[in-house]
Amino acid sequence: MSTHTTRTPNGKVVIVTGAAQGIGAAIAERLARDGFDIVIADLKSADTKAAAVAKECEAAGARVAVIPVDVRSEEDVTALVAGAVEKLGRVDVMVANAGIGPPVDFLETTTKTMNDLWEINIRGVMYCYQAAARQMIKQGGGGRLIAASSVAGLSGFPQLGMYSASKFAVRGMNQCAAAELGKHGITCNTYNPGVVQTDMWTELDKFYSGKAGGPDGSALAAQAAANPLGRNTNPTEVANAVSFLAGPDAAYISGASLCISGGMQMH
Ligand code: NAD
Repeated sequence: MSTHTTRTPNGKVVIVTGAAQGIGAAIAERLARDGFDIVIADLKSADTKAAAVAKECEAAGARVAVIPVDVRSEEDVTALVAGAVEKLGRVDVMVANAGIGPPVDFLETTTKTMNDLWEINIRGVMYCYQAAARQMIKQGGGGRLIAASSVAGLSGFPQLGMYSASKFAVRGMNQCAAAELGKHGITCNTYNPGVVQTDMWTELDKFYSGKAGGPDGSALAAQAAANPLGRNTNPTEVANAVSFLAGPDAAYISGASLCISGGMQMH
């Protein structure tokens, strides 16, 4: 629900991947209210949900394009950026949010799990950063590259070994991009959520609760109880942080990782 009463268009265009649901949808809706025009990018199979998010963004006053993408495909991501330029004129911010987080014991982790995580969580972010940066350089005037890492990108968690590795890699790649692209006025930052109640954590909760022999919901409750603030969070609070990273007040922040975890992870 918006706390804004008026929206001032800022003439800027943001692409949000994985925007059909969860954290990505909240980011798209928040940035629409902030004044951005929005490209909602998600898998073709998420079209119906993407259309609902588009409606929310349009209701906020944004110009919106829905462009299907599989971030594993460089061709798709190149077409996504070209489509954003064709439909909305430019690209100022890329939020590389799409990701997966399958829980699995370290000793049972397979090559397929590793490859899936690598292709979506790391290669996908690389393609998004590269394609958006090329467009930003062409346009001139800089831009913002923002990627989803995680508290698991700062510390290892049980049963999230390769996910954790992928989210560490996102931070490494982001720091590299920040070092190289700063000369073009492009900043690069990650947001690192803690426990956010989305479909991803519904699955994690089932897995962890079952492993501990407890009912569904018990793992989430344990996470909340252990958190310094005594609660988990929701996509809106993550979107608030991304709004800051995409906005004018973050102009001199680059190569940073911002935790939205209630103090679950400190660094
Ligand atoms: P989610 O599962 O609710 O949504 C993920 C979205 O990404 C979906 O809409 C899905 O269709 C899309 N997606 C998946 N694979 C894709 C692909 N190949 N190409 C394009 N889109 C694809 O997840 P969420 O909880 O909203 O998480 C969003 C991001 O935040 C992820 O990168 C996740 O790792 C990260 N994160 C989440 C949490 C959390 O607690 N939920 C915590 C830390 C980090």
